[in-house]
Amino acid sequence: MYRTHTCGELRRTHVNENVTLAGWVQTVRKFGSITFIDLRDRYGITQLLFGEELNTQLDNNPLGREFVLQAKGIVSERSNKNTNIPTGDIEIKVSSFSILNKSVTPPFTVQDDTDGGDDLRMKFRYLDLRRNAVRKNLELRYAVNRAARNYLHANNFMDIETPFLIKSTPEGARDFVVPSRMNAGQFYALPQSPQTFKQLLMVSGYDRYYQIVKCFRDEDLRADRQPEFTQIDCEMSFVEQEDILNMFEGMVKSIFKEVKGIDYTEKLERMSWEDAMWNYGNDKPDIRFAMKIANLKSAFKKDGQLIATGELINGANFGVFDKAETVVAIAVPGCGEYTRKQTDELTEWVKRPQIGMQGLVTIKCNADGTFKSSVDKFYSEEKLKAIASFTNAKAGDLVLILAGTEEKTRKAISELRLELGERLGFRKKDEFKLLWVLDFPLFEYSEEDNRWVARHHPFTAPKPDHIEVMINNDPVIENAAEYLKHPYANIKANAYDMVLNGNEIGGGSIRIFQRDLQEKMFAALGMTKEEALHKFGFLLGAFEYGAPPHGGIAFGFDRLCAILGGSESIRDFIAFPKNNSGRDVMLDAPSTIDDKQLQELSIKLNVQS
Ligand code: ASP
Repeated sequence: MYRTHTCGELRRTHVNENVTLAGWVQTVRKFGSITFIDLRDRYGITQLLFGEELNTQLDNNPLGREFVLQAKGIVSERSNKNTNIPTGDIEIKVSSFSILNKSVTPPFTVQDDTDGGDDLRMKFRYLDLRRNAVRKNLELRYAVNRAARNYLHANNFMDIETPFLIKSTPEGARDFVVPSRMNAGQFYALPQSPQTFKQLLMVSGYDRYYQIVKCFRDEDLRADRQPEFTQIDCEMSFVEQEDILNMFEGMVKSIFKEVKGIDYTEKLERMSWEDAMWNYGNDKPDIRFAMKIANLKSAFKKDGQLIATGELINGANFGVFDKAETVVAIAVPGCGEYTRKQTDELTEWVKRPQIGMQGLVTIKCNADGTFKSSVDKFYSEEKLKAIASFTNAKAGDLVLILAGTEEKTRKAISELRLELGERLGFRKKDEFKLLWVLDFPLFEYSEEDNRWVARHHPFTAPKPDHIEVMINNDPVIENAAEYLKHPYANIKANAYDMVLNGNEIGGGSIRIFQRDLQEKMFAALGMTKEEALHKFGFLLGAFEYGAPPHGGIAFGFDRLCAILGGSESIRDFIAFPKNNSGRDVMLDAPSTIDDKQLQELSIKLNVQS
């Protein structure tokens, strides 16, 4: 037997027992004729004491970091207890030991504060995974996985695997493709999600499906994305939006409870996409703090109406505001006493290329009720007061105003809000705030391709009372610049996103289940009948054999784990992640393949080396 106990298991109650442990050497400390070794495994660390009698044996077989060691001995109470570890009351007086395997000197120390940089840790990920911090993340990931499965199983969901070698499923990214040897010149695509399969399963009558499944998307890796990632993918039949919201609100609450011990009893707040954009400048607002956007002037239409036309700021001869399409502000609590240096720094911050604003207007709301602004020249004290009060600023607050084109400015104010929320400590890692965002537009207009694109994916149904508008109107747009006037611009989707602390953690929709409506959707996206048949004939066909009404959702499993683990990075929660250029630096993949393989696949490369 290699071991009787793990390295995390022994306590004072085991004193005088004979035990055998096996694990990795964490540290070796020699004091005269005795040697202490910390032995580590997945469960913890136990101190081994090698007495004088083992000296010669140790000298002949010197132990180093990460050696695999088996030690037999007796559990003894320590005189010098270590209160930092659960096994700290005891140590093993070793009677014999055996080196099961040696280790070369590791490239970094395997401990919480390691000296290994990111690249080195990824190259030697199998060593990195020995570290406590990383192991805890994987344990949390497994706990989230279990909690999700428990909940879904208890609710009659069935885990059904779907294939990886498929035909493209559009989810808005590029496909990874796999050449077929047996069908020369033909390719499989790896699924961007199991979307069409889960819908087919509904047609087959498996009314509650789930899968914790890999998805593959060939995207330019924006911050913290992985080309392969994991979703909790779910679908249900005979449901309306409300049923889905309730079911999955329940799942996330149950994960919170099981994994974090958090009783998230309150009903999730619900917000329309328009309200999210209007008040927070993005569709996944962090509602742990307020600091809502004040729309002084805006080209964004709410309920089809232009609401903010700029009464408070127009006509003061301040060209920047007069010319701008959009002028938006936030009131930053308690920052009214910022120095010139501090406001200059914020101005620089919004001018960075990632934000791209020309400048920042400030109004300081002094404690004595007076106002000081960077645009004093144009606005009277009275006007400044009116603007400040429109932004809901109180005495002692700082009003920050951005002006420019609609999309860019809204995005910029949203980023500024998040940045200040972060700086002021309003975005606490241990506070969790969930939110449903609803009523997304069904379509977006792509100026590049001069056509409508599906905002979620092409299988998403319009709101029931918008179906007529979709069916009765021709999707073609005469004048691209005026696409907002087209009736399609106002069609809302029966879609929903779940947002946690400013991150989209899940998204889904009620699906189209009628062939004619699905065909209309494909046509609206610019597909000819033939193209639609070629790509999605199988789905259109299935819809003719009694497809039930259905809908579903998918959660970003890696992201959910990262947020619950209080981390910014999903990589920390994936055993073998890729780096920012999509490379696995441990395997050194992707890599070239040899000519024979290429030949078998009938592939000729067109790469300049
Ligand atoms: N397949 C969708 C996605 O991956 C989720 C869904 O609609 O269920 O985003």
